[in-house]
Amino acid sequence: MIRVNEIFCSLQGEGYHSGTPAVFVRLSGCNLHCPFCDTRHEHGTEMSEEEVVEAVRRHAAHHVVVTGGEPALQLTPSLVDALHVIGRYVAVETNATRALPANVDWVTLSPKDAFLGPQAAPVLTRADELKLLFDGVHEPQPYGDISVTHRFLQPCDTGDPTQNARITAATVDYILRHPEWRLSLQIHKILGIQ
Ligand code: SF4
Repeated sequence: MIRVNEIFCSLQGEGYHSGTPAVFVRLSGCNLHCPFCDTRHEHGTEMSEEEVVEAVRRHAAHHVVVTGGEPALQLTPSLVDALHVIGRYVAVETNATRALPANVDWVTLSPKDAFLGPQAAPVLTRADELKLLFDGVHEPQPYGDISVTHRFLQPCDTGDPTQNARITAATVDYILRHPEWRLSLQIHKILGIQ
């Protein structure tokens, strides 16, 4: 059984697939405790893999984003296989501290060791995209020992519009000077959708 916090359909709001319709499968629980965590992932319902697949199948979206919490704590190769059988593309958003099933289609790394220290150091060595929160002050870590195809910087959401505008401007300025990075905005928040 898998402990699932929620399953819902929306637009991917961040990173390379921003704007793509997707079914989000939010798994409960995380091995980290980030002070800025904005997901209420703790609560959940026990579901079988078949029940998760059936819940995903009710939505038309081709993309499935398995997130959390930390999805690597529960995601199995058999669930990924079952989602492939119904024709879904399986993306995972991870803090990179745990190994992932090898059969996922897309990996988004969002390491947190810059905030939490060595206990949150990434163990994964490759990913499709690296997505880092940027506070406009601290230099983003390059993670040069991880093989990544796309690099995104995402302005931290402080909840304060004035501070957010300052951080976003600083992020744009940083990217213009470091063009290996691209901008990721949380468009679901801009649109006011889930
Ligand atoms: S790794 Fe992500 S889900 Fe886990 S506590 Fe940090 S922000 Fe929240």
